[in-house]
Amino acid sequence: MSYSLNIYKMILIINGDYMPIVDYSFTANQLRQLVMDTHSLIPTGEGTLNSIYFDNAATTPPFASVINEINKYTPWYKYVSKKSIKAKLISAMYEESRKSIKRFVNADMENDTVIYTKNTTEAINILSDVLTQQYPDTKPLVITTYMEHMSDYLPWKFRCSCELVNVTQDGRLSMEDLENKLKKYAGKVKLVAVAGANNVIGYVNPIHEIAELAHKHGAKIFVDAAQLIQHRRIYMNSPKLSAIQTDEYTYPANEIQKIDYLAFSAHKTYAPFFTGALIGDKTVLNQVNPFCFGAGITESVTTESVVLKESPVRYEAGSNNILGAIALATAIQTIEQTGFNIIQEYEASLLTYTINQLKQIPDVILYGDTNNTKDRIPIISFNIRNMDTEEVADYLLDNFGLIIKHGLCGSDLYVKKLIEGSTFSGVVRLSFGLYNQTYEIDRVITALSKLLL
Ligand code: PMP
Repeated sequence: MSYSLNIYKMILIINGDYMPIVDYSFTANQLRQLVMDTHSLIPTGEGTLNSIYFDNAATTPPFASVINEINKYTPWYKYVSKKSIKAKLISAMYEESRKSIKRFVNADMENDTVIYTKNTTEAINILSDVLTQQYPDTKPLVITTYMEHMSDYLPWKFRCSCELVNVTQDGRLSMEDLENKLKKYAGKVKLVAVAGANNVIGYVNPIHEIAELAHKHGAKIFVDAAQLIQHRRIYMNSPKLSAIQTDEYTYPANEIQKIDYLAFSAHKTYAPFFTGALIGDKTVLNQVNPFCFGAGITESVTTESVVLKESPVRYEAGSNNILGAIALATAIQTIEQTGFNIIQEYEASLLTYTINQLKQIPDVILYGDTNNTKDRIPIISFNIRNMDTEEVADYLLDNFGLIIKHGLCGSDLYVKKLIEGSTFSGVVRLSFGLYNQTYEIDRVITALSKLLL
């Protein structure tokens, strides 16, 4: 398949002003140029082979733009605590990057704050700790789902009281069960914590519908956007837009429900250096103590009293990951310049191309809805009939240099449901980034076809 992206011209209406925001012509080849090191040499049973990387849901390779920017500022970041022009610039970049993130996810520029964390996992741990401080008398009730990554389950499980929403036969979130649970625990649920997109089949959840339900029942919503942010435009809060049109849903302006809290990881968004972010209402976050105490977070300290700074600073004790923040801001800029329309259309083409090819191979068991894939980011999970999951993954790596994930993929409860009643130990997972190419996918298809000869 040769793929050439169309030219897009999109007009966004903000408060009556027309702003042309995208006018690019990108080809698959040009998308490929955005990232670095995708074909590292690795030893395989067939000799040394160029590897092909299909584990982008775990970590993406860095954008070249990110590495260039990091090279530019690496000699400078040590000046951060000194009174020099470089220090001022670097500090300003660190603060400015928070604004880039807020704009990127359409957060409330005034009331939301961006707290830098190590990753999504740490962000969720912070939020669960915030919640327990908000409700010190009893364990707060949190509704989360069977679809979650363990990072969006274990913090709630250990610190809060936790109810799980079921999934449907094809692995989508059961909105019916969510509504039933909210009704059953009327008024008691403090938070609904849900994945923006799932990391095994890639379903995109209707987060604004979920927000509406949560809010109706007096709960807040947290979205784990670890798998969403690199594939879809996020609207945490967007009163200026007349309506939100996504591929899956259209939300009239008066029905747009605010996403109260959101977290994501930079290393899945083409930026290395392990930064994550927790975004949410600064008033709430200012009311409680941080998860981690240390230098840099206080207005004043005596042996008798400590006055903490407001968020986000109160949540960032110790030395900050300045380069991580610069890397993330640069990755965001590159995604913006590329355009979500282009990314989404191209990735959807990779998804359908692969599913259609895999469907032709007898003995491939595909998980999830393979006919209507509009609400899926480019992640595919499968097994081979009568073969051990790990054996398939090893075969693909050892003989064809295909780097993929296998097992429970960090979503133990979900994958166990998918493979229930079978002898599989997990799934084999392919996850694409915006730079993957159809000729790379062809190597997977060839490998699997040979395996089944
Ligand atoms: N949530 C989801 C949906 C994920 O896929 C992952 C990572 N696979 C995480 C959370 C955890 O991300 P991190 O390891 O960056 O904290």
